[in-house]
Amino acid sequence: IHMADKFDVIVIGAGPGGYVAAIRAAQLGMKVACVEKWVNKSGKTVHGGTCLNVGCIPSKALLETSHKFVEARDDYDDLGIHASDVQIDIEKMMARKDKTVANLTGGISALFKANGVTALEGTGKLLPGKKVEVTDHDGNSATHEAENVVIASGSVPVEIPPAPLTEGLIVDSSGALEFQEVPRRLGVIGAGVIGLELGSVWSRLGSEVTVLEALDSFLPVVDEQIAKETKKLLGKQGLDIRMGARVTGTDIKDNEVVVKYTDSSGEQEQTFDKLIVCVGRRPYTQNLLADGTGVELDERGFIQVDDTCQTNAPGVFAIGDVVRGPMLAHKGSEEGMMVADIIHGEKAQMNYDAIPSVIYTAPEVAWVGMSEQQAKKEGFEVKSGVFPFSASGRAMANNATEGMAKVVTDASTDRILGVHIIGQHAGELIAQGVIAMEFGSSAEDLALTCFAHPTLSEAVHEAALAVEGHAIHMA
Ligand code: FAD
Repeated sequence: IHMADKFDVIVIGAGPGGYVAAIRAAQLGMKVACVEKWVNKSGKTVHGGTCLNVGCIPSKALLETSHKFVEARDDYDDLGIHASDVQIDIEKMMARKDKTVANLTGGISALFKANGVTALEGTGKLLPGKKVEVTDHDGNSATHEAENVVIASGSVPVEIPPAPLTEGLIVDSSGALEFQEVPRRLGVIGAGVIGLELGSVWSRLGSEVTVLEALDSFLPVVDEQIAKETKKLLGKQGLDIRMGARVTGTDIKDNEVVVKYTDSSGEQEQTFDKLIVCVGRRPYTQNLLADGTGVELDERGFIQVDDTCQTNAPGVFAIGDVVRGPMLAHKGSEEGMMVADIIHGEKAQMNYDAIPSVIYTAPEVAWVGMSEQQAKKEGFEVKSGVFPFSASGRAMANNATEGMAKVVTDASTDRILGVHIIGQHAGELIAQGVIAMEFGSSAEDLALTCFAHPTLSEAVHEAALAVEGHAIHMA
């Protein structure tokens, strides 16, 4: 073992948490290294973590292709476009997805170079005294010293004993991004965000999709009105979503997967060509912490941190999926910015009440802040305004009238507590709710703001007007 350079900051993990922290710290003039162990199929170290390699980006590439395919096949006729005999080329779809991923991961490596971040290749382990041991892929290690360490080691899919991963048949979300042909019958365990997105991709391309969800309530974190509409619309698209369905076992027979589950009517069995397990993700801390670092884990395996992402060990921070809070790329990135600023000596903090969530189905589902039910539970007297896209001129022109926008407020102050949207481009529209909440806006503030016409954004405006019962384009 040889002692290498001393850094101001060493970041462990180059996902959207870690790479943002590293770049920001370097921009602030600090000497920064970032350790990453992920290697691609050709054995090259790649930056970007789960999000770029097997998460946000590849899933959105497949969602976009499959959505356009269905639109051309099913909806273009309504628009007066005769696109007969629309064909999907899976190989080309996958190649574009892979190219998008390669461009973006390469882009992060380029940003590291441009900002002077030292990219250390291999597995990082935190030793006591803010030292980081990096073991490369040939087993050689070097120990680096740092004033500050940022852990951003991310998360991995949860596996369940009744459905052990089986090459090409029972796969996790990463496997579901790599199918080389459309499975005829596809099972999905888990009706969460990832299960619904991946189920949608393959359903659009022709799979008969059954989603088995153990819980009785669908998308429990989403506003009930929006969740109900989501379930209805996804059902209409052909996703067979079964609630209260607990998977108890799986058998592989003749290259098929037989899934056993129990629901309210007893024991059930169903055969699939492929099965995706999407039951959640868990924090990843394997071989990460040597004895005596002082960094502690909570009872669920997350690294214990305070509101500013500081661990129990002075000078050691942790951000992203490996700490509490929603497992979202932009949440990790914001924490990365905050931590870099704090290390630089600034008083930084972040607003955990205004983190948006998006489900990239069609229509998209997006929300920020509290649902109506959650606000009531928290003791607020709630007043809500809803505006359906069926009353929006732009939605009609777009042939996309499904869904609604909803603004939830505190009745006593008119302050916005949450914004919930299901509809075309909901993931873009939600930013308006995020900005409003970040500025402590009232519904009246939004109602008095001028929105461009004709846009889908007007639905947010109208929902804010509807809080007082006065939407213009709704009786
Ligand atoms: P990660 O992205 O998991 O990165 C951690 C990195 O650390 C990895 O590269 C890993 O190799 C590296 N690492 C771990 N341990 C070590 C070590 N000891 N030494 C060196 N390197 C190490 N989120 C969204 O916001 N929007 C979406 O649309 C979205 N879609 C998703 C779709 C799918 C299919 C999946 C699986 C996830 C999706 N997510 C989405 C979640 C998102 O990917 C994560 O929230 C995000 O990647 C977390 O970022 P992170 O930096 O904390 O960790």
